[in-house]
Amino acid sequence: MTDNESNKKKDILSLSLSELEEYIQKLGEKKFRAKQIFCWLHQKRAESFESMSDLSKPLRERLSEECFINYPVIERKLASKKDGTLKYLYRLYDGNYVETVFMEYKTGMSICLSTQVGCKMGCRFCASAIAGYVRDLLPSEILGQIYKTEKDTGKKVSSIVLMGIGEPLDNFDNVMRFLELVSAPEGTGLSLRHVTLSTCGIVPRINELAERKLGITLSISLHAPDNKSRSEIMPVNRTYNINELISAARRYFEITGRRITYEYAVIDGVNSDDASAGKLAELIGKSGSHVNLIPVNSVKEREYRSSRRSAEEFAAKLAKKGINATVRRTLGSDIEAACGQLRREASECMNEVKDN
Ligand code: SAH
Repeated sequence: MTDNESNKKKDILSLSLSELEEYIQKLGEKKFRAKQIFCWLHQKRAESFESMSDLSKPLRERLSEECFINYPVIERKLASKKDGTLKYLYRLYDGNYVETVFMEYKTGMSICLSTQVGCKMGCRFCASAIAGYVRDLLPSEILGQIYKTEKDTGKKVSSIVLMGIGEPLDNFDNVMRFLELVSAPEGTGLSLRHVTLSTCGIVPRINELAERKLGITLSISLHAPDNKSRSEIMPVNRTYNINELISAARRYFEITGRRITYEYAVIDGVNSDDASAGKLAELIGKSGSHVNLIPVNSVKEREYRSSRRSAEEFAAKLAKKGINATVRRTLGSDIEAACGQLRREASECMNEVKDN
């Protein structure tokens, strides 16, 4: 489907059940038909209106004329030889690309979803920032990454992390609709307690999210322990400084009772010395928050370096200050499972033959 064709049509997979009810009634149909269609879309995962066998033929035809079911197409799929992690490069209806990573943990299957095509935030170490921002993903396109991956693998997702390409709080309304859809009892019915949202720190949106009390876990990409060093690597810190961010995180915990996780990419010579560990310990204090250390993944264009050992050494420095930190398992390291790397590659070699 081309951009123009789909633009004229209704993105039915993004509609909430009440919006679908309103639309179906406008077509002169009974309200309960909406629930049937919602179930076809979100439980049976129908990709065509034709297959919705308990709807009348005229209704199916009307839906096909007015709506489209927005699924992504698998452009590439990489499988890690080390740990079975899968990485998908999905092509969207308008020819843009996003990445999705599917990982197996002891507790079940976890999926890392993209929320935007590119990103505006400009973090210095991130491949998504280098490629620039194109557009927000629609709710259907965030959901579609799950539906397509589950179909392809035959496995069910048990937890979701919004940690792929994009800043989820910069696409707030669509991400909120996605959460409504993925947790709808008439649909997938996933508990929002199994969702983690990662943000670089858009403070007003963190506050708004807290007020919604959705039960999701908030993960904050901190990466530096003071304003000076954080502003250098994360421009968002110039708008919402580190103290405002930590206060918002505390408030999130007070309101929701959900513990915050801080992400900290250890970068040799930038944020990994004793002084950084001291400042970090002071900043987050004994709030019961957890620190996840990630050896920075070097991207071609950036000089940053790290190793598992530096991350472990930094964890030991934090432990001495009473801060509990773990070094994150780097699943899929051999398939460039870090943010935005595959999408960049694909846009550089658009002629590549589809391998799927
Ligand atoms: N925009 C959101 C979510 C996407 S990034 C956020 O900032 O949290 C997901 C995580 O990967 C973030 O913690 C981000 O800082 C981290 N990340 C990005 N590039 C990285 C790299 N090269 N090495 C290690 N972590 C990286």
